[in-house]
Amino acid sequence: TVAKPQHFLAQIISQDLAEKKHTKVITRFPPEPNGYLHIGHAKSICLNFGLAEEFGGECNLRFDDTNPGKEDQEYVDAIAEDVRWLGFQWSGDIRYASSYFDTFYEWALHLIRAGKAYVCELSPEQAREYRGTLKEPGKDSPFRDRSVEENLAEFEKMRAGEYDEGACVLRAKIDMAAPNINLRDPILYRIRKLAHHQTGDKWCIYPTYDFAHGQEDAIEGITHSICTLEFADHRPLYEWFIDNLPVPHKPRQYEFARLELNYTVTSKRKLKQLVDEGHVDGWNDPRMPTISGMRRRGYPASALRKFCDLIGVTKAASTVDVGMLEFAVRDELNDMAPRAMCVLNPLKVVITNFNGAVENMTQPVHPNKPELGERSLPFTREIFIERDDFTEDTSLSRKKFKRLVLGEWVRLRGAYIIKAEEAIKDEAGNTVELRASLVPDTVGANPPEGVNPRGVIHWVSATENLPIEVRLYDRLFNDEAPDAGDKNFLDALNPDSLVIIERAYAEISLADAKPEQAYQFEREGYFCVDSKYSSAEKPVFNRTIGLKDNWAN
Ligand code: ATP
Ligand code: MG
Ligand code: MG
Repeated sequence: TVAKPQHFLAQIISQDLAEKKHTKVITRFPPEPNGYLHIGHAKSICLNFGLAEEFGGECNLRFDDTNPGKEDQEYVDAIAEDVRWLGFQWSGDIRYASSYFDTFYEWALHLIRAGKAYVCELSPEQAREYRGTLKEPGKDSPFRDRSVEENLAEFEKMRAGEYDEGACVLRAKIDMAAPNINLRDPILYRIRKLAHHQTGDKWCIYPTYDFAHGQEDAIEGITHSICTLEFADHRPLYEWFIDNLPVPHKPRQYEFARLELNYTVTSKRKLKQLVDEGHVDGWNDPRMPTISGMRRRGYPASALRKFCDLIGVTKAASTVDVGMLEFAVRDELNDMAPRAMCVLNPLKVVITNFNGAVENMTQPVHPNKPELGERSLPFTREIFIERDDFTEDTSLSRKKFKRLVLGEWVRLRGAYIIKAEEAIKDEAGNTVELRASLVPDTVGANPPEGVNPRGVIHWVSATENLPIEVRLYDRLFNDEAPDAGDKNFLDALNPDSLVIIERAYAEISLADAKPEQAYQFEREGYFCVDSKYSSAEKPVFNRTIGLKDNWAN
């Protein structure tokens, strides 16, 4: 095999290590705990943890929790679980930006004392007006020339809760005419009179993302701070803080293109809306592009890692075909999943010449993995086959219809060859039952002369089986770009994204199935037990994905 070429970030790190700029690589994955992680975050996780692994370094898990209004402990717990499930272990304890609030506060005082920050009382509307536009420079705030003493006193009043939310902010004094608007005296602290999930009521002022992120990286000794392209314009500000504060270490920011998937929405805000408005059954609904949703649906962690590896890391924004994710899922499952049989749309077949009670057939758990052993399939006088696997239309060619035709033969997987003798109808003319005969001595043996089965179909005993509910999923959105331009992504919701089959019949070995254990139901797709709704009394299986691969590339 040819070694994969290094992507641009791996090249940068290789070079930094070769030049001894750093002796050890330290990266971080810095989610804000304001929602569950989605497939885009998986890319960032695989990238940050992957680089640390590749270069013998470490990766921190740090909650960027500077905005208590939208954050919650529920999200902290779910995110940590998702990272672990994806197969990564962070270095040391979980970290929180909020545990550095004392330092950030000291650093704000440092900027004030250096004449580089001031308390500004412009209203948000006024501040917007003063900020200027891309074409026009901004104007200096009338509060810009306050003395150091006045600023220290005012900032202390902000901290002590003497002002209402929105009454004032602390701003850096940089350049109101800078072409990069991020440098036009950005906000460092705002007043938010809200309890915080980590710091409780200790603070009523909270740092902005810009005033926090680089400093968090500096405190943790991050060498390569990797973020998505939309932060490229913030990099000069990131560097301004690092250069103007007594930080213990100088991290550097690098940007890469975020993952965009067609037929998918990857914005926590929009995913939260789907949950809050009840369009889906929670953050881990199996149709959601969240890591927890994909886990519940049966996507293996290894498939997500494989997908992230396949798409690579670049600086150019592009949209990836969701079929590529599905390809990675099928590829992993085909290799891992034990086989089983399940009839989703049953037609009863009575084997008229079988007079035994039960005959136990055996099949390998996995065709290529003898070490997984065999499973036992009770064969009985009454069995179920799929309705679609039988037809009375004898004109269909053998090539077109490799299943059971009236008057002809088919092999039941792992069992006998049978011949369809008679279709029993109800008054409306629908086939309600089939009478068939078996060809003796054909279990695991070739048929005698003159018996030509058209193919092999799956089956389940009609009396010795496990009745289950099956949930079939389709894409959540019908539109390739559900939230492009000014489209309302809710308009693109697919009304048929969930189809429930209340009663299907599975082989009895599935009574032991555990959530997240994938099975291939032969000829039907990959399935797993639903972790939310399944119980011993009423097993519920999710279809993870069908067998067919439509992704041609
Ligand atoms: P969203 O836009 O969905 O709210 P976010 O970027 O605000 O996502 P964070 O919790 O701040 O969410 O993200 C944590 C990390 O994951 C960040 O470093 C961010 O750049 C990265 N990330 C988020 N979305 C994507 C994506 N679609 N592709 C790659 N990385 C992403
Ligand atoms: Mg973010
Ligand atoms: Mg966000």
